[in-house]
Amino acid sequence: MSETTNIPRVVVIGLASCFGCQINITNIESHLMEVLGQIDVRYWQLTSSDTMPDEFDVAVIEGAATTKEALETLASVRERAKVVITIGACAATAGIPGMAAPEWQDRINDVYGDNTPAIVSDIACKPQAVHDVIKVDYEVPCCPIDPYAFVHVLQKALYGSNEYSRTSTMCGECKRNERGCFYGRGILCMGMITKQGCGARCPNLGRPCNGCAGLSPDANLDAARVVVQHSGVPLKRFNDALAMFNQDDPRIAL
Ligand code: SF4
Ligand code: SF4
Ligand code: SF4
Repeated sequence: MSETTNIPRVVVIGLASCFGCQINITNIESHLMEVLGQIDVRYWQLTSSDTMPDEFDVAVIEGAATTKEALETLASVRERAKVVITIGACAATAGIPGMAAPEWQDRINDVYGDNTPAIVSDIACKPQAVHDVIKVDYEVPCCPIDPYAFVHVLQKALYGSNEYSRTSTMCGECKRNERGCFYGRGILCMGMITKQGCGARCPNLGRPCNGCAGLSPDANLDAARVVVQHSGVPLKRFNDALAMFNQDDPRIAL
């Protein structure tokens, strides 16, 4: 916290991302002013071209690390921040940028062919989730984040909480919504193995879950694959969908 005011000094940083999660924070106008009244936003990459200050208390990070500069930024942020919060699937799981992780150097060749500029080779690194580079204190999951989930996590970071951290998959939340299951219609849904917490937002809106909250600690991938096969959904589709938001999770290896 700032020594002079006791108001936490916050920086909001964007790495490789679409900035959608940062934009989503601005979608809670009514809460935002209350939130902003409790923090001192010293730097917000989306809203200002100011440079990042040397001192701050809380770092909010969106996006995956895909360059050596990003790795250095993360190390430097971790040294200075008392609390690090990641927002969104790109930061929490490497997300969409992470889909290039398994053969990331081949992806560069796909784009540039034999004419890869030296600068690209010099700056690029394997896409990584933030927690694979530095210690992360709090994560706001999903693609994009639920802005109210961000406020909830920020509140925990600022004031502490003894809230129980749930580990179960999303099907329980979905069942409580009484919307039926996509597998009964032979449609792929990743809720079986995805971290609960979003309230089964997509199935509740009539769309299957694509797993943007990442793999649940309780996920039983073997059992899920049996269900997928019994439902008539090609297993390859399930495995491909798994890779989208879980590149950094060794459990997805076949
Ligand atoms: S998690 Fe989704 S919405 Fe957020 S920055 Fe990444 S791609 Fe954009
Ligand atoms: S629709 Fe998806 S989240 Fe809902 S019960 Fe079926 S698999 Fe689970
Ligand atoms: S239902 Fe699935 S895809 Fe939709 S927000 Fe929740 S975790 Fe993400």
